[in-house]
Amino acid sequence: MSTKGKNCEAVKVVVRCRPMNRKEAAARYEKIVDMDVKLGQVTIRNPRSNPGELPKTFTFDAVYDANSKQGDLYDETVRPLIDSVSQGFNGTIFAYGQTGTGKTYTMQGLWTDPDRRGVIPNCFEHIFTHISRSQNQQYLVRASYLEIYQEEIKDLLGKDQSQKLELKENPETGVYIKDLSSFVTKNVKEIEHVMNVGNQARSVGATNMNEHSSRSHAIFVITVECSETDLQGESHIRVGKLNLVDLAGSERQSKTGVHGERLKEASKINLSLSALGNVISALVDGKSTHIPYRDSKLTRLLQDSLGGNAKTIMIATLGPASYNYEESLTTLRYANRAK
Ligand code: ADP
Ligand code: MG
Repeated sequence: MSTKGKNCEAVKVVVRCRPMNRKEAAARYEKIVDMDVKLGQVTIRNPRSNPGELPKTFTFDAVYDANSKQGDLYDETVRPLIDSVSQGFNGTIFAYGQTGTGKTYTMQGLWTDPDRRGVIPNCFEHIFTHISRSQNQQYLVRASYLEIYQEEIKDLLGKDQSQKLELKENPETGVYIKDLSSFVTKNVKEIEHVMNVGNQARSVGATNMNEHSSRSHAIFVITVECSETDLQGESHIRVGKLNLVDLAGSERQSKTGVHGERLKEASKINLSLSALGNVISALVDGKSTHIPYRDSKLTRLLQDSLGGNAKTIMIATLGPASYNYEESLTTLRYANRAK
């Protein structure tokens, strides 16, 4: 048994399995994923199991099955992290999993349906409700939205979408993105507008949105600045930063028949995802003296929001059907390394 490091409470890992979709149901695929919500356990069965091969069971901080509600996932798993961001801590929430398993559904969901709004719109509501109830504090909320595609950074809110942004390091304030736009938002409506503008920019740039989103990481950043005047009349400022990350699809890029640009792209996607896995596992391990943040753009960018006083939530998503066995098992193993 491993002794967990001091960061273990700072990293929460949950797994969500989406329902069978219409195609899968029509084709009568076997369901190979079972969840025990009470125990936080997920069991996966190899549909072509060898004699004597047992189903594999993993335990997480929570599991969310096909019937799980967006609101429950938010209240149980996400809400405490957002509270701590409002108090000046940094936080990162990311969705990891094979394309088509519900990363975007979990992070964004259906904006128009109150029951199906995802993590991001629920965060917006939560943050501004908190602000409207506060009495002695002044808040400033800013939003940025960027994308990492092939280890290149693009500002989804920028005027020039062809511009590639640079990661810089300031000895005092740490890593930042030079020239990244950021907008002050005063209420839910304004921040939703910012998100919509970025979502549009993302899909306009892509000939095939699904393919594009499966190969790029989208990161929505909210900075919450809180100033408070104490009884002596001195003001104190706390700044919390929240990264909401919809990662590229985790599916293994096939090695055969892929050449040139595609191959280069595939290895870069896997680079960021494996670097993220290595960073998180080094953090939770607690014994590592070196955290390999520098190995990818994604991990460098998230450096001040992973580890230390920051809180992290990984939401690993998977599908229930037998034909996804290999990918689902890979996702569970990736998530398992992060606990
Ligand atoms: P990804 O972003 O991982 O590629 P999506 O979020 O686009 O996957 O989900 C793929 C499809 O499955 C979408 O049509 C989405 O609405 C649906 N879906 C995903 N997760 C769920 C869920 N938990 N409940 C209902 N439908 C879901
Ligand atoms: Mg998606």
